[in-house]
Amino acid sequence: MLTGVEVVLAGGDARQLEVIQKLTEMDASVSIVGFDRLDTPFPGVSKAEWTPELLRAADALLLPAVGTDDDGTIAAVFTDRELKLSDPFLEAMPKWGKVYTGMAKPYLRRLCEKHQIGLVELFERDDVAIYNSIPTAEGAVMMAIQNTDITIHGSTCIVLGLGRTGMTLARTLQGLGAKVKAGVRREETFARAFEMGYEPFYIADLARQAEGCDLLFNTIPNMIITAQVISRLPLNAVIIDLASKPGGTDFRFAEKRGIKAMLAPGLPGIVAPKTAGRIIANGLIQMILEDSRQRGEQP
Ligand code: NAP
Repeated sequence: MLTGVEVVLAGGDARQLEVIQKLTEMDASVSIVGFDRLDTPFPGVSKAEWTPELLRAADALLLPAVGTDDDGTIAAVFTDRELKLSDPFLEAMPKWGKVYTGMAKPYLRRLCEKHQIGLVELFERDDVAIYNSIPTAEGAVMMAIQNTDITIHGSTCIVLGLGRTGMTLARTLQGLGAKVKAGVRREETFARAFEMGYEPFYIADLARQAEGCDLLFNTIPNMIITAQVISRLPLNAVIIDLASKPGGTDFRFAEKRGIKAMLAPGLPGIVAPKTAGRIIANGLIQMILEDSRQRGEQP
């Protein structure tokens, strides 16, 4: 249980509603900011104003999936007010307090470092990233269906990167009857892809593999779908780039060539906010419990 743990939850989208519910079920003391346009009652939760004072006794400050943008703004869909995280807020936090988010941009990293406040990026946890890959893969399939006039069944799909997201996506596409090619860089991943029934190739060979591809999915957060690769794709191919912004596609050249290419960030929050919220909540609760256990063990 989280009895006695003070959590301030600032901003976010529908995913946070699930997180709020889970935290209250665990008996945490929860204050929320950035939900004034929402009429839903949250029993046992206090709606608060965004002031540094609010963080004076906070054990945990929970920010949305992408903590803040490059100038400290916290995305908050349920308010018209601007929420900004700046020096006075972290200055006010107790030194044992921690900031929790899905992933942090350099601004948030620097701010936490400056004020020596711990920063936890939940999507870095393997379990959270793997659970999160489920709604991500479903969202990618949704985008593929919406943007093609062919079935996934029988199509030739390329998945670039067989990490936590790529692995789930490749298996999902294969389950739908696609011919799946997997672009990898390591020999052991090549062997695993072969074992799983995909057609593996090394990334260096991507341009050649692009010929005959119907759907090209990218999970590699590097420029990988270059102009050279795009020039070999059939004109009716679709690129769905899942990698975090700015993605790994030369979008300018794709547009010039008339190839549909889209960056598809935040799919779990779009296609399955409840599930995605539960995934965040479970990871968060585990981390807070571990952190408070460690604090209790310290002399
Ligand atoms: P991950 O487990 O680290 O997988 C990334 C994969 O990319 C790994 O297999 C890695 O290969 C490969 N890779 C990295 N750099 C490479 C390079 N230069 N050449 C070839 N392969 C390279 O990460 P993940 O959790 O799957 O996430 C992947 C991306 O998707 C991230 O940018 C993440 O933020 C994003 N994401 C987006 C959504 C969404 O809704 N769009 C949802 C979840 C995650 P090795 O195994 O050889 O290292």
